[in-house]
Formats: sequence, C-alpha cells, structure tokens
Amino acid sequence: MWEKEETQHYVFHYHKHSLAEKDITSIMDLQERCFDYICRILRVKMNKKINYFLCESPEEVGKLYGDDEPFNGIVKYPDTVYAVYNEDVKCVGFHEDVHLIAYNTLGNPPQALLREGLAMFFDKVWWGIPNEAWVQVFLKTKLYKTISSLKDNREFFRYSETLTYPISGAFVAYLIPVFGTEKFKNFYKIVDDDFDKIFYLTFGHNLNDVEDNFLGYIQTVHYNETLQNLVLEYLKRAGFFQIKAIQEKQGS
Ligand SMILES: [Zn+2]
Repeated sequence: MWEKEETQHYVFHYHKHSLAEKDITSIMDLQERCFDYICRILRVKMNKKINYFLCESPEEVGKLYGDDEPFNGIVKYPDTVYAVYNEDVKCVGFHEDVHLIAYNTLGNPPQALLREGLAMFFDKVWWGIPNEAWVQVFLKTKLYKTISSLKDNREFFRYSETLTYPISGAFVAYLIPVFGTEKFKNFYKIVDDDFDKIFYLTFGHNLNDVEDNFLGYIQTVHYNETLQNLVLEYLKRAGFFQIKAIQEKQGS
C-alpha cells in the first residue's frame, strides 16, 4: 500500500515508515522548485501532474516499471517516475522530471544523446562535478567520444553513462545559450533520424563545425586542479584507464 501526498504539479507515492515519508516535505519542495525552473527555462507548460513513486530499492523500481531490471530512477511515459529514495541513493531532483516535461511539451527525439543531454543540462553535474569538467578530462585522456558518433543510439548505449551523460549534457548546455532556447526547442521537436540535416536546417551550421567550437569552448574553462584530479580519481576507480590500457595493448 502506498501513502499519497499531492502538490500543485505532483502526486507523490511513498511507503509508510520509509525515509521518503520522513523527508516528504522537503522532497515535495525540491521537486516543485525543479519543475518551476525547468518550465521557466524551456518556456513550456505541462498540464498534467507527475506521479512520483519513491521506492526503497533499485529492485523495487524495476518491478514497478515492469522489466525487473534494477534502476535508481526511470520514467514511464507519459507521467510517471519510479525513483529510489533510501539512505544511500536519493534519486530526486531534475533529471527524470526533465524527461517527462520535455516529452509532454516538446515530444521525444529519437536520439538518446538529446534526451539525456537535456536532462543533464538541468542536472549540471555528474557525481557532483560539472559536466564540462568531465568533458575537459575526457579530452585530455582521449576518453572523449564525439557527438557525431553518440548521435547514433547504438554508439551511445555502447559506452558507460559516466562518459555519455556528461558529454551530452555539456553539448546541450553549449547549444542553448549559443543558439537560443527557441532554436534548441525547435530542433528537439522536429529532429528525426537524419540528425545532421535537421541540425543544419535549424542552426545554420554543420554539426562538425559546431562540435569543434564546443570543444574549443570546453578547453577555455579553467577548473580548479583539485576538481580535475577528482575526475581522474573517479575514472580510475571506475576502471576506465585499465580498459583503455587493455584496448591499446590489443591495438583496437
Ligand atoms: Zn535520463
């Protein structure tokens, strides 16, 4: 049985005696603030409420979603979020709500690069470190994957989210201020499988040229060295350089 609490834009569902129940007031405030900011930035209005299920474990999320795959957070279109909220994982904030608000007001582009990019543009950080700081380190360590390759979903899903999410988030965070929110929204709405063609038609520049400029921009930001070392440390711990060393040995 679920307990229920309603706000202007959400219906929150949580278990009795759970941590979510204890924190429900602050969760309600947080999500309403995220919702308001997302709609203001995208200049959209979502008319239906979001159903937010606060679960105790990734396994419970998978069970509710229906495929039994454990997840920390996942959306079921058009209006439902299943998210873990326990001592270790608190899957609240912008990310899943961006997916639902974008889906209901702009539609869903075929490219995961754009869907995750928009959500990560609002998240701003991966493991608490700015998306751009990750991309800068990816460039230095040759872990960077190009936008031209990641626009293909098969490529996007081949790599760890630790690579693909900050890259796509930083790219969207470059497109929006450079070309304007309206142009970006238009692109998001109309893009089909021919990414390059719609990109050129919308922004008036080739994807490759824009990606070059994006990478030039990424390298202009001077991040604190401690932050860069932290990214390297996280990547090391996640086994990235080991993988790279093995690939180099095999000559691939
Ligand atoms: Zn996502």
